[in-house]
Amino acid sequence: MTQENETKAKPKKTVNYVRVDMPKQPPHIRRRNFQEVAHGYTPDLAVAEALRCLQCKKPFCVDGCPVEINIPGFIRCIAAREFTGAIRVLKEKNCLPAVCGRVCPQEEQCEARCVVGKKGEAVAIGRLERFAAEMEAKKEKLELAEIDKPTGKKVAVVGSGPAGVTVAGDLVMRGHEITMYEALHEAGGVLTYGIPEFRLPKRVVRREISYIRKLGVNLVTDFVVGKTKSLERLLDENDAVFIGTGAGLPWFMNIPGENLNGVYSANEYLTRMNLMGGFKFPRSSTPIKAHRNVATIGGGNVAMDCARTAARLGAENSYIVYRRSEKELPARLEEYENAEEENVIFHFLTLPVKLIGDDKGWLKEIECLRMELGEPDASGRRKPIPVEGSEFRLPMDACVVAIGNSPNPIIPDTTPDIETEKWGNIKADEATGKTSMERVWAGGDIVTGAATVILAMGAGRVAARSMHKYLMGEEQWNQDSQD
Ligand code: FAD
Repeated sequence: MTQENETKAKPKKTVNYVRVDMPKQPPHIRRRNFQEVAHGYTPDLAVAEALRCLQCKKPFCVDGCPVEINIPGFIRCIAAREFTGAIRVLKEKNCLPAVCGRVCPQEEQCEARCVVGKKGEAVAIGRLERFAAEMEAKKEKLELAEIDKPTGKKVAVVGSGPAGVTVAGDLVMRGHEITMYEALHEAGGVLTYGIPEFRLPKRVVRREISYIRKLGVNLVTDFVVGKTKSLERLLDENDAVFIGTGAGLPWFMNIPGENLNGVYSANEYLTRMNLMGGFKFPRSSTPIKAHRNVATIGGGNVAMDCARTAARLGAENSYIVYRRSEKELPARLEEYENAEEENVIFHFLTLPVKLIGDDKGWLKEIECLRMELGEPDASGRRKPIPVEGSEFRLPMDACVVAIGNSPNPIIPDTTPDIETEKWGNIKADEATGKTSMERVWAGGDIVTGAATVILAMGAGRVAARSMHKYLMGEEQWNQDSQD
């Protein structure tokens, strides 16, 4: 190398392919408490992890983020110990960073595209996002985003889950007057009533909701749109309406015995825990009986949450009963591993066919069939097929059904003009969120069916953009127009 080339050559960055571990509560301790499992990074750990980011010129990680966060930007701030800068960058695109840092399936999204991850472990983008949000929470003064001049336009947002919160946050920043209506007594949607305290502390959700309220969003709780007031009335009072009412209608297995005592839907089980103080067990009495043997049916995040909740409520044995194999489990790998560490017992390739009760109407046993895997079905996963004559019984005193949810039916049922799909999902244009009703947009689980927090937020962002254009007269209402 000539002397000239030597001076021009950049020092080569040594890539660290191993991610910095995030401290967690040990399994034998956390199995019996409802405190958050993960402790999160300390500043030194976060900086060490942030320094693993290559700061790619073309950041593929951003393409993997449905809300387009400037990922290298916020990580660069953390690496430079500019933690306030990091939260500022995050909040440009995401009003729920402490939530997303905890529950987003980053391994399938931003982290799946990380260049470091091609040869080693991807940069822990979610953990860093969570860290930046927690650093901000420790400060007395919140960083508030800038708000545009008032536009004089009024918008009603129905539902306060991630989709509704994103629309409310985005539009309040554009200067519109926003009222968010929520059926339950507390805002947050599934983040509040579904995901348990040990995975997503409610103080975190409340803090993020209080952030958009500080930006100026009015929140009205205990208000069921379609019952307390019709959607048409809301339209009379507002310039536009967004529907983000989620997928809160539980599916059942439709097998004999589902009406026995001790059989719950995942929604009921988790709502009682999260909204009725059950998670404070044993400090407060819980409305859920403490069962000894609990089977959760299903294999997704919801099922893991229920099985881990049952263990914390004192179950001697908490089982997951899943009809496919470990390979097809839809839950996040991290949540599956956490459940295993907490001694949740997995019955794979097992299908419940009958719930059997005692003479007082309480569940006593579950009759199951063994399954084997056949050819891939419509979902692309191998289809479970019952093995003939393989019936067996599991002694059980509670069963939680966590096999999926349908869209919330109240608005479709009470609003004849809104078009829906076969399963009751509201039809909305993917590129704009526009529905069949003029001045009404929709997004999140009510449109897609049960999905993820970040996809609901992404849909909220798309709708908010289109709604803003419409409200500012930059776009006429036209069903076929693309944003
Ligand atoms: P929701 O969060 O369901 O919010 C809808 C809100 O609308 C609710 O508060 C509801 O009360 C309200 N509402 C309904 N009807 C009306 C009405 N007529 N009037 C007024 N308000 C109304 N996703 C992940 O990304 N990671 C996870 O780890 C994860 N874990 C999950 C665990 C559980 C137990 C569950 C149930 C879901 C989980 N999900 C997870 C999925 C994720 O939470 C949802 O996809 C997401 O919350 C959908 O957001 P949303 O805003 O569309 O609806």
